Amino acid sequence: DDKSTVSITVVGASGDLAKKKIFPALFALYYEDCLPKHFTIFGYARSKMTDAELRNMVRKTLTCRIDKRENCGEKMEEFLSRCFYQSGQYDSEENFEELDKKLKEHEAGRVSNRLFYLSIPPNIFVNAVKCATLSATSANGWTRVIVEKPFGRDSESSAALTSALKQYLEEDQIFRIDHYLGKELIENLSVLRFSNLIFEPLWSRQYIRNVQLIFSEDFGTEGRGGYFDHYGIIRDIMQNHLLQILAIFAMETPVSLDAEDIRNEKVKVLRSMMPLRADDVVIGQYKSHTKGGVSYPGYTDDKTVPNDSLTPTFAAAALFINNARWDGVPFLMKAGKALHNRRAEIRVQFRHVPGNLYNRSFGTDLDRATNELVIRVQPDEAIYLKINNKVPGLGMRLDRSNLNLLYKARYSKEIPCAYERLLLDAIEGERRLFIRSDELDAAWSLFTPLLKELDEKKIIPEYYPYGSRGPVGAHYLAAKYNVKWGDLGVEE
Ligand code: NAP
Repeated sequence: DDKSTVSITVVGASGDLAKKKIFPALFALYYEDCLPKHFTIFGYARSKMTDAELRNMVRKTLTCRIDKRENCGEKMEEFLSRCFYQSGQYDSEENFEELDKKLKEHEAGRVSNRLFYLSIPPNIFVNAVKCATLSATSANGWTRVIVEKPFGRDSESSAALTSALKQYLEEDQIFRIDHYLGKELIENLSVLRFSNLIFEPLWSRQYIRNVQLIFSEDFGTEGRGGYFDHYGIIRDIMQNHLLQILAIFAMETPVSLDAEDIRNEKVKVLRSMMPLRADDVVIGQYKSHTKGGVSYPGYTDDKTVPNDSLTPTFAAAALFINNARWDGVPFLMKAGKALHNRRAEIRVQFRHVPGNLYNRSFGTDLDRATNELVIRVQPDEAIYLKINNKVPGLGMRLDRSNLNLLYKARYSKEIPCAYERLLLDAIEGERRLFIRSDELDAAWSLFTPLLKELDEKKIIPEYYPYGSRGPVGAHYLAAKYNVKWGDLGVEE
């Protein structure tokens, strides 16, 4: 409305995430008319920059959507004219006071709502929150802070971070981002389950044999391994992104779509799980590999990684939910860097048809004959269901076919980046897709004992060649629970 304004401060504006994701997402929201009428964007970092220099930096990162080219250049300039820069230290209350002064000038006496996006390394989170809240809190509107992972590296450090933040902020001011929750197909997961009669009745141990959550990247750390080496793939991908997907996948029906109702159900699922056991986990690290005359570096060849690093770049794990719905169903996770493809997907393998009349058509390969639902989160968003189908003709031969919903074939609209949805939700105060602190505690308690054991025992990862399908151990782990990874068949 006319009486209020939103000021968005990107703290760490000179950094990679700000350039790659945050400014482009803010522009996309502006283009879509999703930002409030009165808004101002400030970049804040130590680097010295003028407003014009910030605008030039941001301009280079902005793009127009394929379906939204009209007036895009003009819109970019309008957007940039509302971006400003303030240089300052992250631990200086005085510098944040200078920011506060400038914000006030732009707010021009309106009710001021302020959003701080902390796009900075985790060791300076608390200082920045302290100074921002002490010196630049809104006097008459809301003040919210978006924080990016990592939220600690185990239960203790995560709890310490939470309590440090809570010296300055209430829980409802903290927006912990997990950008996987902003992805279109993860948002759709609940729609698929709760608004289609044919899925929810099957969503239990009675019909589902196993669920697989798979994340793979086809590149390594590429000279940016310094951050990663301190965390490893389990903390970087599994404890947050894959576990969040699992919680939404497996939760009971929430009372409503209200954020607290959904997050209550997610916490319940997480608390119904047993902490991971080391013998249900396989870890790997990629090594150098030469293919077609090209040689690809191993993880420890990265100059920013210590030569003797045991940090896993791959992990596979089996998790179980001890409740009436999921008792005994393996939830298998797999995440890795420098693998043969780039993909994030959920695979649901259904049980065998009891007394299947057509068994003989498949010989003994019963695994192939079961239904599988695949939700491909990226790239090329899709949902498809593998069914058994009669091959047309006079004989009786069956094959596997896909009932296929390929997004780019069905919807001409470009899918917004996860950061757009999350930023918009934070501005609107919608907390559904952000992680509440009790959720975070529950997530860490599942992984902390395992992470400690890996560190203490200095467990050696299984080495796998760059560009391969990962360590063989992942297959043994799956076989232990009578599971075959669904992503290893022919490319779909
Ligand atoms: P970054 O580029 O390393 O850092 C952002 C800015 O922080 C830098 O431009 C720098 O600005 C300042 N900074 C860097 N190191 C500092 C230090 N030691 N002390 C004080 N200031 C320092 O980080 P980023 O990749 O943009 O990521 C920002 C946050 O998002 C991090 O918490 C990261 O873990 C998280 N994250 C990033 C990604 C990604 O895709 N990049 C994905 C998920 C999460 P000045 O020198 O100008 O002050």
